[in-house]
Amino acid sequence: MTLVGGGPGAVDLLTLRGWRALQAADVVVADRLGPVEILAELPPHVRVVDVGKEPGRHPVPQERINELLVEHARAGAHVVRLKGGDPFVLGRGGEEVVACAAAGVPVEVVPGVTSAVAVPGLAGIPLTHRGVTTGFHVVSGHCAPALPGSAVAGATPASDSSGPLDDAALACVRDGAATLVVLMGVRSLGAIVAQSLAAGADPGTPVAIVENGSTSEQRVTRARLEEAADVATARGVRSPAVVVIGRVAAAGLLVETVEGTSERRLAGAGV
Ligand code: SAH
Repeated sequence: MTLVGGGPGAVDLLTLRGWRALQAADVVVADRLGPVEILAELPPHVRVVDVGKEPGRHPVPQERINELLVEHARAGAHVVRLKGGDPFVLGRGGEEVVACAAAGVPVEVVPGVTSAVAVPGLAGIPLTHRGVTTGFHVVSGHCAPALPGSAVAGATPASDSSGPLDDAALACVRDGAATLVVLMGVRSLGAIVAQSLAAGADPGTPVAIVENGSTSEQRVTRARLEEAADVATARGVRSPAVVVIGRVAAAGLLVETVEGTSERRLAGAGV
């Protein structure tokens, strides 16, 4: 079985190694996110099994996906599991590797371009920037992330139970220590904002929300932390989206539009 990270959506953000694995596949087990357009371009004999997930709706449970991978591999097929982004970033790829290993099915991993980094990047948002911040922290807004030392993601509840962010994530927003990147965070944005403000975060902290990164539907919404949830609601922001919280999310950090013209210049370069 080859576990392929497909990148955030645009076919040309799939790696060459991932593309080669797809060309050599007999069966491709694919998700809703990622480079779904590539599926129509596969050689005609390739069987595509769609296990796509909508937020909150799981048409094919994870256990069944694991079984499908094992069943097809045991039947002698060259199976590719195509996932969005990178398989090991909030993608449950680890569980699929464990299931295959338990069944004696060898696995090759092809890393992918994770939306956590690439989607902000496509919107011109660097997760680190000299003189601004030297680190970033990626969490799921969907469930409590694991604390250091816990073996299974989600097994240990966040010590601060007043919101979706654990202590480390909260410290990023409150102290500006590092950029916070939230995946699956659209639904919990209001709770994240409330928890951060209650913890003493600067209400003016820049927030950027990038929807449908790398596709023709890509859209960026920016707001101050205190108004981020309201602005997102007013703009009809929907999943999939990456939420970036921190000074790097400020409009014009790298490039700003010179007022009154369509001309662009490097921020800080002087006019
Ligand atoms: N393994 C994936 C993440 C899976 S979790 C990766 O490495 O990218 C799914 C979440 O990823 C979505 O809820 C959203 O937060 C983010 N995501 C994936 N593709 C995206 C895209 N094209 N645009 C914006 N967010 C995306």
